[in-house]
Amino acid sequence: MRYPVDNKKITSPYGMRTLPGRKPVFHYGIDFTGKNKTAIAPCDMTVDRILDVDSEYPCRFKLVRGKFEIDNTVPLGRAWTPYVIAHSSDNPDVTFVFKHIAPLKGLSVGDIILEGGKVGTIGNYGFSMGEHLHFEVMINNKHTDPAKWLIENVNKV
Ligand SMILES: [Zn+2]
Repeated sequence: MRYPVDNKKITSPYGMRTLPGRKPVFHYGIDFTGKNKTAIAPCDMTVDRILDVDSEYPCRFKLVRGKFEIDNTVPLGRAWTPYVIAHSSDNPDVTFVFKHIAPLKGLSVGDIILEGGKVGTIGNYGFSMGEHLHFEVMINNKHTDPAKWLIENVNKV
């Protein structure tokens, strides 16, 4: 088991959070810094679902004088958030969600990505204010804190 990125800096933790100008909502994952370019498989995993980047409207937000604002020129329902969802090949109870990434080209449902293999390219895609990887871990379809889960499982013998 390994981290899904090389730079482990977390820019937004798991739990309740309030983004500028929005209502508090539960953040079901952790956000890793956009200094990372590649999302990496934490273990051998089998791809369950893929959603590609909206090629015409890649992002819901735009930078205005150094601040991210909703881009009202993007139609409703567009600039969807792309993702890859996969489960551990050794333990199907464990599911990983990678959001705001451009899935690896040619990736298909049912593919196995080996530990350390590329899942996609980290970008500013979908409902996103800056490049980052949003990473979720689900155990039997229930979310758990990925930061805690990684600490407990990486380097476990
Ligand atoms: Zn996030």
